[in-house]
Amino acid sequence: MMPGLLLSSQAQDLTGLGWELGSFPVENFQTYSSPFGYRASPTGGYGTEFHNGLDFAAPEGSYIRNWWAGKVIEVSDDTACGTLVRVQSGAWQHVYCHMKGQVETEPRGRVMVDRAGGVEIWQGQTLATGMRIGRVGMTGRTTGPHLHWTLRHQGQLVNPGVVLQAMAEAQQAVTTPESPVTNQG
Ligand SMILES: [Zn+2]
Repeated sequence: MMPGLLLSSQAQDLTGLGWELGSFPVENFQTYSSPFGYRASPTGGYGTEFHNGLDFAAPEGSYIRNWWAGKVIEVSDDTACGTLVRVQSGAWQHVYCHMKGQVETEPRGRVMVDRAGGVEIWQGQTLATGMRIGRVGMTGRTTGPHLHWTLRHQGQLVNPGVVLQAMAEAQQAVTTPESPVTNQG
């Protein structure tokens, strides 16, 4: 079994757990520009690499929304992931990469600051589901503006596409024609 691969039967199990409450993580979504799993190296060469998340193409500056209520356990801006926010929600960890802005160290602690976007995210801060937590940028190792989104459950990588599928199915199940559920965008 590939690392992080959830069986479809497991995904079905997840639909009973309130997935309709989750937030789609980006506004102005265009397309999935790179799936989770092994791929050819995006920067050229002949090698393959393991892509540990899902890429959402969106215009630079599009707002990123917190997938699930939780606590910010890390803000950083000095890795290939670029400016990032890492959130813990129970057994789940979700990471948002290549964001606009940078990390600053204040007497209160570390903070991800995107002044033009009007966003400040403090390490240790509690976030609500669907809250705007930053904007799509090009920081770190990237060839174009996109959100790289990584999900872990109890430390194990999970294919975010499987979770989004579970969310979509759960949202359909609670949607009536009179009250369509949107992506809170
Ligand atoms: Zn990626």
